[in-house]
Amino acid sequence: MIATRNKPDEAGRFRPAGGLFGSSPKRLWLAFLPIPALIALMAVVYFAVNSAVFYDPGWLILIANTIFVGVVCGIVAYIALRSYNATGRIQILLLGCGVLVFGIGGVIAAIVRHMPGGANLNVTIYNIGAFLGAVFHLTAGFILLIGVSPEAGSGRKKSWLVLGYGGSILFMAMISVATFKSLIPPFFIQGVGPTPIRQAVLGGADILFAFAFLIFMGTYLRNKEVFLYWYSCALALTAISLTAFYIQRSVGSPVGWVGRLSQYFGGIYFLISLVTAARSAETRKTSLDEVLTSSLSGAEEKFRALAEHTPDVIRRFDRGLRHIYVNPAGQRLYGRSAGDIIGKRVNQTGLHGPSGVEWEARILKVFQTGRPMEVEDTLPRGDGVGFYLSHCVPEYGPDGTVANVLVVSRDLTERKHAEEGLKLQNAILQGVNRILGSALHTATEEEFGKECLQVAEMITCSKFGFIGEIGPDGLSRFLAISNPGWEACRMYEKAGERRFLGSFAIHGIYGRVLKDGKGLIANDPATHPDRIGFPEGHPPVTAFLGVPLVRDGATVGIIAVGNREGGYRMEDQQALEALAPSFVGALARKRAEEKLRHTAGELKRSNEDLEQFSYAVSHDLQEPLRMINGFLGLLQERYKPQLDDRACKYINYSVEGTLRMSQLITDLMTYSRVERRAKEAQPTDANASLASALANLRGSINNTSAALTHDELPTVSADDTQLTQLFQNLIGNAIKFRRADRQCQVHVGVQRHEDHWVFYVRDNGIGIPQDAFTRIFTIFQRLHTREEYQGTGVGLAICKKIVERHGGRIWVESQPGQGSTFYFMLDS
Ligand code: ADP
Repeated sequence: MIATRNKPDEAGRFRPAGGLFGSSPKRLWLAFLPIPALIALMAVVYFAVNSAVFYDPGWLILIANTIFVGVVCGIVAYIALRSYNATGRIQILLLGCGVLVFGIGGVIAAIVRHMPGGANLNVTIYNIGAFLGAVFHLTAGFILLIGVSPEAGSGRKKSWLVLGYGGSILFMAMISVATFKSLIPPFFIQGVGPTPIRQAVLGGADILFAFAFLIFMGTYLRNKEVFLYWYSCALALTAISLTAFYIQRSVGSPVGWVGRLSQYFGGIYFLISLVTAARSAETRKTSLDEVLTSSLSGAEEKFRALAEHTPDVIRRFDRGLRHIYVNPAGQRLYGRSAGDIIGKRVNQTGLHGPSGVEWEARILKVFQTGRPMEVEDTLPRGDGVGFYLSHCVPEYGPDGTVANVLVVSRDLTERKHAEEGLKLQNAILQGVNRILGSALHTATEEEFGKECLQVAEMITCSKFGFIGEIGPDGLSRFLAISNPGWEACRMYEKAGERRFLGSFAIHGIYGRVLKDGKGLIANDPATHPDRIGFPEGHPPVTAFLGVPLVRDGATVGIIAVGNREGGYRMEDQQALEALAPSFVGALARKRAEEKLRHTAGELKRSNEDLEQFSYAVSHDLQEPLRMINGFLGLLQERYKPQLDDRACKYINYSVEGTLRMSQLITDLMTYSRVERRAKEAQPTDANASLASALANLRGSINNTSAALTHDELPTVSADDTQLTQLFQNLIGNAIKFRRADRQCQVHVGVQRHEDHWVFYVRDNGIGIPQDAFTRIFTIFQRLHTREEYQGTGVGLAICKKIVERHGGRIWVESQPGQGSTFYFMLDS
């Protein structure tokens, strides 16, 4: 039923739920009519009808009182109890207690009225119940009036309930007993009529109910909770009935009947109030408890107190999309007073600009759909534009239609800025990363500069820029310039001055950065005092940002960028300043590395030259040496008879000398050939290589009667000739540097070390001092220069070259006087 009634019509508006109970405010006044009508009736009856007439059938009163007072109050008290249990609201408990005592009083009074002395019993119990009920209601009313809504904490809730309901029942029971036992002064004396004490209690109850009515009705007029309307009418009817009882001269008189009628009406109104509350709950999609609570808690006051102090902007719109409320934060946003805003539509406030239309559409949509909406949008405000998260919430009126739309906007500007700051920090970090990375992978300084400039432009959202460095000539020199700028600066090329990317005098706005060594933002460069204009064809500069490049405290250059949309901000300058050191550092390192690479290249080249040279020289020397040797041989053989001993000795020395020279030449040629030889790494049986080496060394082995042993050697990937050479040199040395006092023993072995074969040649010779362990592998290093150890100092250098060429290494372990072990592996 509710659903069909609340469908929006074609215009998108809700039709209010109809019916008197459905609480259409238009027809609600009808419900008030019985009140003046009963007052009038009471007056007429009091003055015009013979008061001696009376009618008082006990059974009828019992039934009517039980139904209209007992049952009704029971139901209301039960609902109040449930609501109190759910919400802990003290006002609801007070209402419950009020109706409870009133109901109990009414029922007991009706039961006892025909007992002996029943008139006094009846009147005493009823009146005391009514008085107490009125006190409870007025207390609830007071709480409403002062606008607080006390709530019993979950721990205290039960105690209050026991105290309220239990206490009420107990109290009424005690009053009844006390009345029976005549412990209470009589309220009514048969034949005489009511006593003054009864009049005081009844009159008091009457007045309290009347006040409670006024307070509840007043609250209804403010918060339009229909429940309160019916409830306050019920209180008014109760007050009327008490008035009638007060002025009646005898029980059952016509005035008394007006009172009863009023009381029964009141009972019905109490019930209706509950029905309307239940229906409000249904239309508002909330609970009965919630409706009772909000009816009785001065919700509006609470809302205001909250709204006035929150930093959130709170606005409320009526169906005409006009402001009906704006809180102080909202007034600050608009920069206007509430009086200037209320009654105006969003785009009449002149602040929303083009987004005003959008805002109105949003609010209208909430009215139409009844669904809340969340939007993130900008709102104009004093210092530019604020970023807000807004909740547009429908507020249902008592009739279940959307009466207002509440817009609560939270200022997220700070957070947005913080987020942007974080993003910027991230971008800077990535930028630094990219600069360091590009220092490694870019081939030239120009390329590196270009990448760095791209990073700078990206981070500052610039259209173009350049990086300049102060040269030794005091001129600035471009390290990088982005295309649009470069195109315009061809003039340097034309003038024939272009070095790298060209040099230029230090002046203008960028000159200021270099001179001051400080970052500079010029968002209106045309008016800057340092401006000198731009070369022809240079794109117009609408914004400029430059930061110095600083090394060791001195300004060495500049990164400048231009034309960020909307101009540069301090953040952009800070970002660029954060980048600059990594650029300077990376550039310095790049230059140092380049220098090193250059030197290493030179070294390699001179080494190659040397090898080539020694090869050529050795080759050219070999021939004449052989000739000299040949002649010396001839001399020795043919002219021996003519030569004396001394001449023979000299000739022998000469032969020895040529042999040594020849050996040196052979060694040098072998040395320089190691690299020149095409590498032929192939599976090579190391046993075969060792056998060839031993064959070549057969002479010296035999001469020295050296003892040679060896392990079974593996097959390895190697150049077989060079492996032979390696064994030959190492075994040759082992024999050459043997100890004279014992038999020379040489062992060639192999060990498996992780994935590699480690070969070794061990001897029991004279050994090598530790400080020469590495030195002996460089060319021309000889430790033992005595006659018998004569060598060239090239052999181990050849060995080293061979193993390194195979990707391996060679090292020695030795105990001087004990022997040496040369280890090598061919790959590593
Ligand atoms: P050469 O043997 O022609 O002198 P090497 O380069 O082969 O040149 O050796 C360099 C030096 O290392 C030798 O002069 C010698 O002093 C020392 N040496 C090499 N092998 C041994 C060894 N097995 N025992 C002792 N000293 C050695």
